[in-house]
This record gives sequence, structure tokens and C-alpha cells, in this order.
Amino acid sequence: MFTIDTASPIIVTGATGFVAGHIVKQLLEAGATVRAPVRDPANESKLKYLNAIAENASGQIEYFKADLLDEGSYHDAMVDCSIVFHTASPFVTAVKDPQTQLIDPALLGTRNVLEEVNRTPSVNRVVLTSSCAAIYGDNADVQKAPGGILTEEIWNTSSSLSHQPYSYSKTVAEREAWKIAEAQSRWDLVVVNPSLVIGPGINPHATSESFNLVRQMGDGSLKSGAPRFSFGVVDVRDLAQAHLAAAFKPDAKGRHIISGHDTDLFEMAQTLVEQFGNDYPIPRKVMPKWLVWLMAPMVNKAMTRKIVSLNVNVPWKADNSKSIKELGVAYRPMDASMNEMFQQLVDSGSFKK
Ligand code: NAP
Repeated sequence: MFTIDTASPIIVTGATGFVAGHIVKQLLEAGATVRAPVRDPANESKLKYLNAIAENASGQIEYFKADLLDEGSYHDAMVDCSIVFHTASPFVTAVKDPQTQLIDPALLGTRNVLEEVNRTPSVNRVVLTSSCAAIYGDNADVQKAPGGILTEEIWNTSSSLSHQPYSYSKTVAEREAWKIAEAQSRWDLVVVNPSLVIGPGINPHATSESFNLVRQMGDGSLKSGAPRFSFGVVDVRDLAQAHLAAAFKPDAKGRHIISGHDTDLFEMAQTLVEQFGNDYPIPRKVMPKWLVWLMAPMVNKAMTRKIVSLNVNVPWKADNSKSIKELGVAYRPMDASMNEMFQQLVDSGSFKK
């Protein structure tokens, strides 16, 4: 248990995002003043979902203009804040230029936000949304981990600008955050490392890669089969709870794997068959690895044959016990998260019928 301290404003970078939406919701419902630095404070179509929550909550939300790549732009939003949630970072895989589209905003953005923290005496804790992608690069790495299980001790050493650049962006950004945090003693850094995030978003038209992945299960892309591409998943609401615990539990420290279930694409799709299988082309067969290897790069440029070789049919396992013991996370069943997320995609018109 922990108490959400609403005495000072709380800043959430990337408030318009899938992950941050539920953090903002929980803060507003607890009565906090949320400072939301966003790239475009005039974009009513993006902000209306957060505004609707604020209207019915005891807290309030204030918008500021900021960009990860614009040095000093988080200043106004951070003044007088005690807690900084730094979630903003691009989560996309289809990129033309990984350096400018992924690495720069992740790394320079983290530096920009944390240098502002250094200049803001009221801040005493930063919660950074890193990723399990900063712990491992490919599933082949999981096999090399002690006992074949990922823990918070492990760092991703296999990703690079040319191979798994998103994972590389999260790794260099988290390393930078620890470097800046360890160079001072006024504020502490607590890191959450989520696996793939699923569940209903605050914004039903979210652009997070999470939505693209689940959308594929109903739009026909995987109708001939889904690969056994393994990873962990966590519900977005459980992840928000983990962020809040990381912020408000005085003894929270270090990294935290936030992952409810070890699963794979095929198994995730099977959770949808009962409720949606009659109306949508949910994959019902496993796509064999050789076929994935052959087809993947033609369907999705980011899915190289090297990625297929190192990940498909290779199990993924992570130790989430620290999150349960130290942050008190109670993970909900994957079926519930998947069905609620898919229903949201249906309701928001994601599938042409
Ligand atoms: P998302 O919905 O795409 O949200 C990304 C957020 O980052 C958006 O609010 C976006 O703002 C902001 N952003 C991107 N580039 C920016 C820039 N140059 N300046 C300022 N803001 C910028 O993605 P998400 O899934 O919620 O991801 C949020 C965080 O969770 C990321 O750090 C991601 O790495 C991490 N994470 C996600 C998952 C997952 O499965 N979803 C798993 C592990 C970790 P705009 O609205 O202006 O675009």
C-alpha cells in the first residue's frame, strides 16, 4: 500500500501516450494536479480523452508545450513538481531513420528531462518508463540468461542501430538516466521495465505499436497463422499502478520488470477466438518458423530474417517477483486485457467489415 501525495503538482511527460494515459487517470482520480507537457497543446482531438477524465475527477490537468528534442522546454511544466514521470519516447518499429526517429528522442529526450530535474529543487523522485527491451534484445539472449530467466540484473547488449533499434533506444536512454541520477544525490531514480503493454487505452485511436500488434489479429494480416514469437505482456492499468507505486513507495528503488505473463503471438490470439472468432479472422494456426522466415521481411521491413531466426520458437521468460513483492503489483489475467483491448478496437472502427 502507498499514499498518492497530491500536495505538489506531478509532471507526466508523454501524457498523450497509451501507457501514460492510465497514469494520468489514476493521478487525477486521486486528486492530483497533473502537469502535461505535450508536443501540441492545441491538438484537441488528442487531448479530449484526458480532458474528459479530468472533468469527472477531483484533480486537474494543465498542458504545456514541450518536445524531447527542444532543450529546456520542460522547464515551465516542471516548476514546483515533486515527482517526474518520464514516459515520453517513441514506440514504433517501422522507421526509415532509427537515429533521428528513435535514438535521438529517447536518449537526448531523457537527458533533456533529467537535466531539467537537476535544475528543479522541488523534485525528489523520477520514475522512468524504460522497457524489458533494455534488459534483452532477442529471445536468444533470454536463453543465455542465468537459468534462462530475465532479471533486473541483466542489460541488453545485443541491440544496435541496425538490429532492433527500438530496443537499442530504450537501452541507451535508461543507461543515460542512471548515469545522470548517480552523479547527484538530491533526487532518486526508480525505473519500471514493462514488457509488451496491452489492454484498453484512454485514447481508442492510440498510435502505440501495442495497438498495431493486436489490430493485426483481427484485420486479416495473420489469417493464415500466427508465429510463436514469444514475449511478456502486461495490462496498461496494472502498469499504471506499478508506476504510482514506484513514485510513492518511499523504499522503491532500482529497476523493476513489470510483466504479467510469458506468452507468444499465437497464444495471445487464441484468447480472442471464443468472443470474436466468428466475426473476425483471428489466427487459429501456428505459422511455421520457415514460413515466417521467408515471408516476414516482405510483409514488414522491420521484421528481418535475423530477427525471425533469433526470436521465433524461442521461449521468453522473466522474473516478475520484485514487482509483486516490492511494488505490490497484482497482475490481471491476459484474456481479460486482450478481449477488452480488441473490443475497443472494434468499437473505434479499426476493422473494415
Ligand atoms: P505512445 O502511445 O506512442 O506514446 C508515446 C508518447 O511519447 C506520446 O505521448 C508522444 O507524444 C511522446 N513523444 C514521442 N516523441 C516525442 C517528442 N519528440 N517530444 C515529446 N513527446 C514525444 O507509446 P506508449 O506505448 O504509450 O509508450 C510510452 C512509453 O512506454 C515509452 O517510453 C515506451 O518505450 C514505453 N514502453 C511501451 C511498451 C508498450 O508495449 N506499449 C512496452 C514497454 C515500454 P505525441 O502525442 O506528441 O506523439
